[in-house]
Parts: sequence; structure tokens; C-alpha cells
Amino acid sequence: MTAAREPQRFAHVAQRARNDLQDRQLLAAKTAELAEAGVTVLDDPHTTPGASALTWLRPSPADPEGAELTAENHMHCPGRAAHLRVSRPWNSDHEPQVTVTWWCLDPTGNGHAALRDDRPLPQTGAGDPSTAPAESDAEKEVRRVERRRVIENNKAWDASVPVRRAWLRELLARKTAPKDAARYIAAALATGGYELSRAIDAHNALACDLLGLSAPAGHGRPSPMLPMLETAGAAKATQVMLAIVLAAQEDALGRHSWRDGHTDGRAATYMAALKQWGYPAEPVEDLVIDPNADGHLDTPDTDGLADDHVDADRTEHPVDEPDADDGSDDGSDDGTGETPCRTRASRPAEPRDAP
Ligand SMILES: [Zn+2]
Repeated sequence: MTAAREPQRFAHVAQRARNDLQDRQLLAAKTAELAEAGVTVLDDPHTTPGASALTWLRPSPADPEGAELTAENHMHCPGRAAHLRVSRPWNSDHEPQVTVTWWCLDPTGNGHAALRDDRPLPQTGAGDPSTAPAESDAEKEVRRVERRRVIENNKAWDASVPVRRAWLRELLARKTAPKDAARYIAAALATGGYELSRAIDAHNALACDLLGLSAPAGHGRPSPMLPMLETAGAAKATQVMLAIVLAAQEDALGRHSWRDGHTDGRAATYMAALKQWGYPAEPVEDLVIDPNADGHLDTPDTDGLADDHVDADRTEHPVDEPDADDGSDDGSDDGTGETPCRTRASRPAEPRDAP
């Protein structure tokens, strides 16, 4: 599939290429810096025999269960290793940044112990103790393929966000809204929901942005939309209403949405409406509507993994969780950002960037 063969995909392909180039540059710089400091940088820690993320470890068997092995405490361990990835916030103007997840190449040899005694350390191959002790080659392959899918879809999602928002700006700049816009707006208002109330409480900041207006000044100050509405006819006023309900939903999407968006009727309705109005959705965006749009089907094995990961997420949230402050949410449970499955149960109740 190329941009040349599918011209409507050009914006998506170009954005992805820009992101990939920027990722490579950021990762190369950080890798060089860590190599200088004597740190082993792992491409795929999950396939590094015996390695474990620090989040699954406690400093030594003498420490109580649950005692964290922090990156700082692990500074002088000969097994010190790192996995890098780029976090790309989509709800802000912040630049992408490299986040580091710390690993130990040989936890037992270096005197560490499992964080919890009921989750033994990996002996071979598997970097994730949640699946120890016995994982067949077939199970490993399932996990490997799923991990690749997560990495790829997260990148595709990141690239889709600016493209979708540029398309929304064009849609909302038209003289008239799509034919069934009034019905869509009415249904959105009738449905309500957290996304909408949050957007209104935040003075419709993203809607202003999508309409090409300045950012709202805040509580008690008139919305930048009001001067526009003073002279607006019915068509323009409809566009403003459409901007408000679309932006509310758009702002609630995140990296999690390709995995759990289909369980949220409002997200799926939103994406379906954009497509109906001509938006050239990428496969990763189709997953918001249909979780099997890319031919992927959950197997009992991955369901089992999901349960483990949910549990891990609740009880062993990594201290160096890379995305805690940038609004992104990739479902990491070991900080690598490549956890295969994430269920709605493990998703934060509300988006983390709530004002
Ligand atoms: Zn170590």
C-alpha cells in the first residue's frame, strides 16, 4: 500500500514518515548518550533471555515483597540495561521525547528478586515474568506477533492524529456543515457523557482551535466563538455546534482508542461519522469502529495475558512510567509500551490530561 497508489492516504503516509524520521533521530541520540555511560540498550527486551524490567523486581530477596528496585538504586548493577521508545503526545504542542525503561539483564545473578514471590523471575527468553514459568514456543510467537501489532498500531495512531485534526479543520471551515450534522449534534447532546461536559468545562479549547480561533481565556471571559456567532447565519452556527461536539470526542481519543474505542459507543459513532463525511480513515482508526477491522482476533491465550497485565497494571504500576505526564496512554505495564492487550478495566477511568 503506497501513497502513490492511494492518493487519499498521502497525508497519513507523509505524517508517518516524518514521525519515523524524528523517532530515529531521537533514539540514535539517546542510544549514543547511554552507550557512553556504559548502558546496554535493548532493541526488544522481551526476547532477551533472562532479562527483566526493574518494575518486576525488588532489590534483593532480603527486601520485603513489593519493595521497588528503582533506576537510581540500580545505577551500579552490571546488568543495567535500557529500552527506549518515543512518546508522542497528541493533546498538546509538546515535542515528542524519548522515554527510558530500565531493565536488568541478569536479575538473579545480580542478587535481585521478583517483586512478588508468586511471579517468579524469567529463566529463559521471556522478559515478562507474568507468563513464567512455562510458555510454549507457540505462545511466545503469539505474544511476539501481538507486541509487533501494538507497536505498529501505536505508531500509526500517533501519525493519524494531526492528519485527522487537519481534516476536521477543513470540514469546519466549510460554509455549510454536512447534511446530517444537525442530527449528529442532537444525538451527541442527547447522549451527553464525560467527554462533552469536560470539553464545555474547558471552554471548548479544542473546538476553538479547530475553528481557527484563539484559545479561550478561561473562566468568566467570553468565548472566542461568540464574536463569530454574532454575525453567523444558521449554517455557520451549525458548524460551531458541530465543532463543539466533534472536538469533545476527538479530545477524548488516545493511543488506547484503537484497542478499546469499539467498546465506547460514542467513540465509534464519532469515527463512523467522520468516515461518512469523507474522512479517509486509516486501518488503525477503523479499529475504533470494529476491533477486527485489521483481521486480528483475540485468542484465548491473549485473553489470558490481558488478565495478567490488568492485574499487573493495578498493583505494580512502574515508578518510571514514561507517559504519566504527557497525556499518552499506551497500556504499558512494564514501561516498555508494548503490552499486547489492554482491556477497558485497566484504562484510567478518565483521560489523564483532564484539566
Ligand atoms: Zn540488576
